[in-house]
Amino acid sequence: MRPDVLALMERRDAAAVSLGYVGYADGILAADGLQGDWLIGKLTDYLKIHLPATAKWAHEENIAMVDWFSRLHRMAMLMEPSAPMPLLETFACRMGLEPVLPRLSISMTDHFCFASQTDSRRIHLAISPIDSMYSWCTLFHEFGHACVYASLPQNDLPWLSPLVDEVIAVLFAHTALQLLCDDGLRSQGLSVLHTDYTRACVSGLFKLDLWRNRTDPERLYQNWYSQLGVQVEPEKWALDSFRSIDCMTVFAYPLGQALAESIPAGKTATGTGP
Ligand SMILES: [Zn+2]
Repeated sequence: MRPDVLALMERRDAAAVSLGYVGYADGILAADGLQGDWLIGKLTDYLKIHLPATAKWAHEENIAMVDWFSRLHRMAMLMEPSAPMPLLETFACRMGLEPVLPRLSISMTDHFCFASQTDSRRIHLAISPIDSMYSWCTLFHEFGHACVYASLPQNDLPWLSPLVDEVIAVLFAHTALQLLCDDGLRSQGLSVLHTDYTRACVSGLFKLDLWRNRTDPERLYQNWYSQLGVQVEPEKWALDSFRSIDCMTVFAYPLGQALAESIPAGKTATGTGP
């Protein structure tokens, strides 16, 4: 996979240069109106706040990168699994988003969660059982994607910025925690989100570093990921977000969470959480 990823990066760079950009990373950032130095500053600020607790958890729990998501899932289990639709109905009612609900279908999966729109304008959510605060937050994150898709004419979807799409989904999960959870569950949910978005932050900084210098990706990967307190296999760098999502979107998670927390908390409600 190593040569494939490096070849992919070369081709992306060549395509960006042909369009007048310095390289692929610069082109993607420019498309969203971002400047590299500003972005690195924001991600570094996020790390300063959240890396110590994340690294402490990963070190004490002896977490290997390959087990990251399953361990995150077990970080804050719920006493009782929740049914997804009633949770979404409560949230949609509070947010005035009821018209989205009839367009939704939901299936359960033990693998990656996602939202996708079909030709019939129906929106499908694939989610894992709501038995932890990780899957609880993921449900509302994916509902955020669904609401973005529902708000756009179908012809506009290919032009949707992945960064904007992802930031809005992050805002939805944060808002659901504020609206539906009591203080204890909200705190657990925020811990889960901060832990995973710290990983996304490290991944984003690694990727920005890699686009500038790809002579020794294993060393870069080791340098960045060892900060997380996890066991690192340097050769796995090529499996980092290149595997499933665009490698230049991963930093949307900490950016979205930092944005969410910069908005003064309004009136929150309790008693309808999981
Ligand atoms: Zn998402």
